[in-house]
Amino acid sequence: ARRNVLITGCSSGIGLALAVKMAKDEQKRFKVFATMRNLAKKEPLEEAAGHRLGKTLEIKQLDVCDEQSIKTCVNSIPDRRIDVLGKYRINDCKFMFMDVFACCCLPFCAVSNAGMGLIGPIECQSIEEMKTVMDTNFFGLVRLLKEILPDMKRRKSGHIVIISSVMGIQGILFNDVYAASKFAVEGFCESLAIQALKFKLQLSLIEPGPVVTEFERKVFEDGMKMDLSAADKETAEMFTNIYLKNYKQIFQSLGQSAEDVAEHTVKIILAENPPFRHQTNTLYTPMTTLKYADPNGDLPIDIFYKMVFQHDKIFSASLNFIKLLRWRSRKSFDLGKPSQ
Ligand code: NAD
Repeated sequence: ARRNVLITGCSSGIGLALAVKMAKDEQKRFKVFATMRNLAKKEPLEEAAGHRLGKTLEIKQLDVCDEQSIKTCVNSIPDRRIDVLGKYRINDCKFMFMDVFACCCLPFCAVSNAGMGLIGPIECQSIEEMKTVMDTNFFGLVRLLKEILPDMKRRKSGHIVIISSVMGIQGILFNDVYAASKFAVEGFCESLAIQALKFKLQLSLIEPGPVVTEFERKVFEDGMKMDLSAADKETAEMFTNIYLKNYKQIFQSLGQSAEDVAEHTVKIILAENPPFRHQTNTLYTPMTTLKYADPNGDLPIDIFYKMVFQHDKIFSASLNFIKLLRWRSRKSFDLGKPSQ
């Protein structure tokens, strides 16, 4: 059976790569509803999808900050119609609700991917900018789930996949609000996962480290243009001379491609028992593990401090260590045989 998959934020990056990968699946296991806020940006996706367009992939408008656009999009998907109260509504006048079970109801999968970044000292960011990040990254997910969760609960079937981040586990210098938005996502999902289990629904958080996409380019450019006049000299220099200076290098040495993350995500979607959390970058795992190694929470903060402020020694040593790990773990990703 073909599985309906709705993905948000498909005009670029991970969303685009995932939509295309699933649409090109050789076994044709997916029908992809690739959504984006602005349909004027659909060309790269159309080009990448090629002749799958209109067959295994459809493009739809969906703005995660607009409840009505989510509703309109979900209503236009055939599975929603199949699953009206778990029954077909054949003829309102004669039958009211007919007990025709939705035997062709396919497991629905939603990938909450749309998101945005924000870097810099908080004294140089407006509350409005911060609210936009929370509204997109956190409330965007909440809005989507408010729309699709009731259907999934009725069907007792569905998989919700959320593109979170390692910053949903651990904060990083000058990513305060972005990390907060991903922490919110993680806390929300941890709570919801307990209820979801009762309804036989699956929830999976995908936690990439740095990924080389539009996100990285835009965040860096915004950082370079940032008006730092509200920050003291030491903070402004820290941001410019340490953070921004090393930003590109971190993405170069640690960064994954969007296609890499898409591959991980497809494996999670196909897994018989998908995990609740999945980190896509084994190079980053030692960093997130620090959090669990010290219940006081001091260890990761101390290590990050040393990496950033004694970076001449530790930062370059860490990068070399990371390069070594990358070489050793290149072929280590395997979630076992996916379910068919
Ligand atoms: P990207 O900028 O290429 O993709 C983000 C997509 O979200 C864009 O297509 C954008 O148009 C869309 N979007 C933003 N606001 C939207 C809205 N209101 N409604 C609908 N779509 C909207 O970047 P990406 O790296 O592919 O990011 C995808 C996800 O991965 C995000 O949630 C991001 O937080 C997460 N992530 C990215 C990185 C990274 O380093 N790039 C690392 C970890 C996690």
